[in-house]
Amino acid sequence: YDKESNSIQYSTVAHFPPVRLLPNADRKRILVTGGAGFVGSHLVDRLMLLGHEVTVLDNFFTGSRTTVSHWVGHPNFGLVRHDVVEPFMIEVDQIYHLACPASPPHYQYNPVKTVKTSFMGTLNMLGLAKRTKARFLITSTSEVYGDPEEHPQREEYWGHVNCIGPRACYDEGKRVAETLTYGYMRQDNVEVRVARIFNTFGPRMNPYDGRVVSNFIIQALKGEDMTVYGDGKQTRSFQYIHDLVDGLILLMNGPETRPVNIGSSDEFTIIDFAEAVRDIVEEVQKEEGNSLAKRVGIIHKDMPVDDPQRRRAETTRAKETLKWAPQWTVRQGIYEMTKYYSAQIRSGAL
Ligand code: NAD
Ligand code: UDP
Ligand code: UDP
Repeated sequence: YDKESNSIQYSTVAHFPPVRLLPNADRKRILVTGGAGFVGSHLVDRLMLLGHEVTVLDNFFTGSRTTVSHWVGHPNFGLVRHDVVEPFMIEVDQIYHLACPASPPHYQYNPVKTVKTSFMGTLNMLGLAKRTKARFLITSTSEVYGDPEEHPQREEYWGHVNCIGPRACYDEGKRVAETLTYGYMRQDNVEVRVARIFNTFGPRMNPYDGRVVSNFIIQALKGEDMTVYGDGKQTRSFQYIHDLVDGLILLMNGPETRPVNIGSSDEFTIIDFAEAVRDIVEEVQKEEGNSLAKRVGIIHKDMPVDDPQRRRAETTRAKETLKWAPQWTVRQGIYEMTKYYSAQIRSGAL
């Protein structure tokens, strides 16, 4: 910010979006593990535009180079192919530790590797935070509450997780990652932040990663039946990616060290959600002049084992301590994401 001209200063490098010009004291060296994934790539965009130096560390298991390729070559940006299960050395001020597959088919594909990523990956990144005195933020999950017996879920709730079921590699992995995080805080005075993220959606979500929002939109756009698992009475609350990124950055830079839920409180049954998505996709198709001859159907498939019955974020803590509140409605978000996938389908990328 330049006082004389009363304006924000930007630095421009040919072919890249202008990024904010920060005084050295405010410019942070930031590591984003899992930065080539869905959430990571949006976080990287925001941190870059804010003028920080960003290094992405990713093994490209579920992420891809293309999500961040628009920054490759920028002097403030670095991309390293690395698996967090192995130690890693770098000098940084902040670490956003996201590396971990997040969709059920992906994290169940190799459950042992998922647990290793959560345990050893988080241990290594905490070791790095301890050595460099960097502040460490982990993206934990509403899955630490399991199939909850308390509704909506407050941060004080200890959860209800089946430790031997097919989801355990992810749920228990994140639970032990939180345990490690608070261990390093108590033992080694590492500055830690814990975000418990609820279902999040938006552009760049891997269209075939099996999560409900991407499945429904792609199915409806392609005129295929939408697949509701079980009777569809189970519930979720969905937040749009930009709201999550706001929350993560506020949490990292604020004083709250306890876990903070970041998610929507707008709860849908999955069957109602399917109908809402179908309506929005039809609206987009009409606008784009390629309406389908008939409505897509909604069919039912088997309910996955241990699928949580109800989930809604209780977000009083985020509102009070971060002054955070979602700005996007589910409708606006689904509309944006549908336009994004529709353009990809038209370009032949999907
Ligand atoms: P994603 O699968 O798109 O991204 C995960 C990224 O981590 C990918 O780029 C992947 O290649 C990378 N990765 C995985 N294992 C790795 C390893 N061993 N070493 C290095 N990189 C590795 O998932 P996402 O939705 O972007 O989720 C990001 C984080 O947010 C995860 O920690 C996830 O648990 C958490 N989260 C997401 C949601 C959601 O709804 N999207 C909800 C709760 C929590
Ligand atoms: N570590 C890392 N990068 C660093 C510092 C540590 O990857 O810059 C790893 C280290 O290899 C170890 C883990 O983090 O596996 C935990 O480190 P810590 O120093 O806490 O434990 P120790 O090395 O004493 O077991
Ligand atoms: N689901 C569904 N059809 C799909 C994919 C998922 O009905 O094609 C259901 C799933 O059973 C769950 C909810 O939608 O109840 C959310 O699933 P997702 O995998 O997106 O996230 P999570 O279960 O981790 O919340």
